Amino acid sequence: MKEKGLLVVISGPSGTGKGTICKALLEKNDFWLSVSATTRNPRAGEVDGVNYYFLNKEEFKNKIDSKDFLEYAEVYGNYYGTPKSNVLAAIDNGKDVVLEIDIQGALRVKESYPEGVFIFILPPSMEELKKRIINRGSETNESLMTRFKAAYKEINYVSKYNYAVVNDTVKEAVKKIESIITAERCRVDRVKENILDSKEGIIHEQLYD
Ligand code: ADP
Ligand code: 5GP
Repeated sequence: MKEKGLLVVISGPSGTGKGTICKALLEKNDFWLSVSATTRNPRAGEVDGVNYYFLNKEEFKNKIDSKDFLEYAEVYGNYYGTPKSNVLAAIDNGKDVVLEIDIQGALRVKESYPEGVFIFILPPSMEELKKRIINRGSETNESLMTRFKAAYKEINYVSKYNYAVVNDTVKEAVKKIESIITAERCRVDRVKENILDSKEGIIHEQLYD
């Protein structure tokens, strides 16, 4: 039987470094990063179908009605959603799939797909988080404060996740996530069927005879 891929959900407050970490993780590993749909406008350099599928509100709503999303959420005034069929097909094909999504979305995925691996990215400190959002230069003062205030509340959701990774340096954070994924692939409840099924049960006999 073909082993299924893992669904790895990387989530956490805005500015903690999720995007940066996912990019570095994908450069080194053969994971499949899900491309989300969004109603927000493309930023300079963003390409439709690569960074996001950019949809208008009506197109997005139609997809909600057709149950095309594994999850969707409104984040800072725009809608974001994870296309369901691509993700499930990749997992069935044995690919490890990475979702980089907000906390509401991650908790919804956890309800429908509890066997996923849920990783919360934390900043080294709130002061450092503020600096990072300012340095990114993507927010107005107002939107910076909205995100920063939201982060204080969002950090409480860490207890709903399986793992917490502090993004001190990108290199260390990526190393920790790679280790988590390696360990998850070895979990007995994930590999049991394949071990017992392999070689007509020979391994099973060797283990228990
Ligand atoms: P998110 O996707 O969680 O909103 P980003 O990946 O956009 O966060 O990171 C926010 C800002 O912090 C970016 O300017 C990024 O370059 C910077 N950053 C990310 N990780 C680190 C790190 N480990 N050390 C210093 N700066 C970082
Ligand atoms: P940005 O507009 O900066 O690209 O993303 C804003 C927020 O939306 C980030 O926290 C990002 O993780 C989140 N996000 C991106 N795609 C999705 C998605 O498909 N679903 C959910 N719930 N959040 C998403």
